[in-house]
Amino acid sequence: MTAPGSGFAERLQDVQERIARAAARAGRDPSSISLLAVSKGQPVGRVREAADAGQRLFGENRVQEGVAKIESLRGELPELIWKLIGPLQTNKAKAALQYFAAVESLDRERLALRLESLLAETGRTLPVLLEINLGSEATKSGVLSDEAEKFAAACLALPHLDVRGLMAVPPYDEDPESSRPHFRRLREIRDRLADRLGRELPELSMGMSHDFEVAVEEGSTEVRIGTALFGARETE
Ligand SMILES: *Cc1c(COP(=O)(O)O)cnc(C)c1O
Repeated sequence: MTAPGSGFAERLQDVQERIARAAARAGRDPSSISLLAVSKGQPVGRVREAADAGQRLFGENRVQEGVAKIESLRGELPELIWKLIGPLQTNKAKAALQYFAAVESLDRERLALRLESLLAETGRTLPVLLEINLGSEATKSGVLSDEAEKFAAACLALPHLDVRGLMAVPPYDEDPESSRPHFRRLREIRDRLADRLGRELPELSMGMSHDFEVAVEEGSTEVRIGTALFGARETE
C-alpha cells in the first residue's frame, strides 16, 4: 500500500489525494474533512517528521503514551494539536485535560460527569465526540446505538462539554466495503440525534487506514489515520 522507503511527506500527499478523490466522488468539499495523524506506537522522531511535512493534528489512543510524547515535543513544537481517541479511565481525566485539546472517545456518563466537574473549576470548554459501538462488540468501547440518545442527552446537559458529534471504529474487515453500512449507520444515528435533541452534531469521526475513502464517501468529517501515514507501528 505504501511504497517502501517513502517518507511521511510522500505518504501524506498520497493520503490527501485519496481523500480529495473520495470527496469528489461524493460531491463534497475536501476541505470539510480533517486528517488526524494517529501516532500511537510511533516514536517521537516520526512525529517530528510529520510536523516537518506540515501535519498539525495528532491522535493518541493511550493517555500515558500520549502524555509522554506531548511532554517531549511541546517545547519544540507547541503548534501541534493532540486529540485523545482511545479509552480514558476516570482517574486519568485530569491528566487528559492537561494535555489533550479534545476527547473523541467519550463513552460513559460517569466520565462525562468527571470531565465536567474538572472543567467547571477552570471555566474551560472541551470539545468531545461520543463514541458509538456500532458492531455491539464486547471487546470495544463506546455506547451501544440503543443507548446513544440517552447518553447524548446527558452529555448535552453538561455546560463545559462541547458535544461536536460522533466517533466510531467499526468491526474490522480487510475489505473496506464492509465498513460502508457501519459508516452509513453512524451518520443516520447522528442525524436522528440531532433531530430529536435539537442540536447540530456536525462532526463524524470515522475512517482509518484501510477504509478512509469509503468513510469520506459516507460523510466523514475526520479520518483517523495511522499506518497509511507512518508505516507499521513499533509497538501495539
Ligand atoms: C489505531 C487507531 C486508528 C488508526 O489506525 P490505522 O489502521 O493505523 O490507520 C484510528 N482510530 C483509533 C481509535 C485507533 O485506535
